[in-house]
Amino acid sequence: MASLAPGEAVLCTNAMTGFVTRFAPSPTGALHLGHAFAALTALDAARAAGGRFLLRIEDLDGARCRPEFETAIYEDLAWLGVAWETPVRRQSEHMGDYARVLDDLVARSLVYRDFRTRRELMAESVNAPHELGVTVRGGPASDEAERLATGQPFAWRLSLDRCRDTLGADWISLGFEADGVWTKAEPERLGDAILARKEFPASYHLASVHDDALQGITHIIRGEDLRDAAHLHVLLQRLLGLPTPTYRHHRLILGDNGKRLAKRDLAVTLRAMRASGETPSSIRAQLGLRE
Ligand code: GLU
Repeated sequence: MASLAPGEAVLCTNAMTGFVTRFAPSPTGALHLGHAFAALTALDAARAAGGRFLLRIEDLDGARCRPEFETAIYEDLAWLGVAWETPVRRQSEHMGDYARVLDDLVARSLVYRDFRTRRELMAESVNAPHELGVTVRGGPASDEAERLATGQPFAWRLSLDRCRDTLGADWISLGFEADGVWTKAEPERLGDAILARKEFPASYHLASVHDDALQGITHIIRGEDLRDAAHLHVLLQRLLGLPTPTYRHHRLILGDNGKRLAKRDLAVTLRAMRASGETPSSIRAQLGLRE
């Protein structure tokens, strides 16, 4: 598959490519009912539109991804009746693509090095409770040269201030269609997001924005927990000269405790449900999805 050079405009438009969507799980655990809902919702949308459905394996987290989880993803999805195009893009095989995107952003001074450790960042958010989570805004450290000289590890953060300066009037016009409504992009929601760090050379944001464009995804259909992420992704698309897809967000499947399902909720893994006699049809029925 050809790689997309940074800044290279994608010539196809949604109208020319039709409807292309994807399911992009990370092989860090067993698929559960929430994943089944996400995969089937995207698949059903592709079928209804006469479009294409792709599967992408987001296996950039070397510490948490395991080959057996990836194998189980293929088996569980096939059992569920999900069919996808091959070859499947596995992100770990394309680190060079993401490094090129990062290099481009570095060359354009749109990112800066943040030498703070996770612990320091946690302390910061505790001391500033009005800030959303660990939302960070800032710029390069004044003692950057010394820190670099001593080999201190750092993360690359997108500088929203630099992005705003670079885009000028375009910043105001950043927006996207989400759930049928034109939405003004508010990249500030996530602050200066980390795009790479030493042990994790490409973040989810960087890799997924690159891959969605490379794979010609026209419709991103995923859980509403990623609504804020879209605001950042739209900015990255504009910076990199990539098209902005249409976004749809689906509800999250909640467990008995009212919380969203997590990978540790073993009772609702597709494996466990299958072993207890559930069928693909009964799973669809539970999720409120038609056959
Ligand atoms: N790998 C991400 C996840 O599992 C994919 C999110 C997305 O669909 O963009 O949450």
